[in-house]
Amino acid sequence: MTSAVDGQEPSGLAARLAAIDERIAAAARAAGRDPEELTRIVVTKFHPASLVRDLHAIGVRAVGENRQQELSAKQAELAALDLAWHFIGQGQTNKAAAIRRSADVVHSVDRDRFADALHRAADGDDVLDVLVQVNLTDDPGRGGVAPADAVGLVEHVLALPSLRLRGVMAVAPLDEEPAAAFARLRDVSDVVRATAPDATWISAGMTGDFAEAIAAGATHLRIGSAITGPRPDRG
Ligand SMILES: *Cc1c(COP(=O)(O)O)cnc(C)c1O
Repeated sequence: MTSAVDGQEPSGLAARLAAIDERIAAAARAAGRDPEELTRIVVTKFHPASLVRDLHAIGVRAVGENRQQELSAKQAELAALDLAWHFIGQGQTNKAAAIRRSADVVHSVDRDRFADALHRAADGDDVLDVLVQVNLTDDPGRGGVAPADAVGLVEHVLALPSLRLRGVMAVAPLDEEPAAAFARLRDVSDVVRATAPDATWISAGMTGDFAEAIAAGATHLRIGSAITGPRPDRG
């Protein structure tokens, strides 16, 4: 096993990270893609800031959080580290300002009002990277805009100058082959790019389905437990 940079890395983190990166690269090559085009975001939700620090020490530069308070607390504690903070959770309008202060990218813009609230929270002329989250399930209660409504939301976001639309994001439904679900996301991405040619990112793929996501064109993978180990009980 490769040892960590300074030999003090706890609990096999570096080995798990290296193993996942090898699997990502293999999946990319199998899909005829260059692994270099992929951004691997390590999802650190429910884990302490110390784990994020350990990840940074072994080269991780992009992390994901799904709750505003946890994002804000960890980002504040680790502000000195060069990390990109990705917000991947359901966003509440009344938390939008706090999310915007702590996040570099918001993957989960799922309605006009949340986009508006993020825009209103802009500080001066700073620009926030955002993705439109697409709901691939039949359950409207799940996060994300219905595929048929994605372009409408995209047009709304494009009219907000403090937001830069980078692409689309989704979570595969539990009751469907991920490849089929990610193919639909790819279709939505194609339609969105007809309106917003720069919105090239596809945020898809987690521990259980990142290979299928890569095959379907994902550019940003959100991988948690395979790297961090099991999540502690949520506090
Ligand atoms: C928790 C989470 C992930 C990571 O899930 P793992 O199965 O642990 O890799 C990815 N995306 C979202 C939106 C999440 O909430």
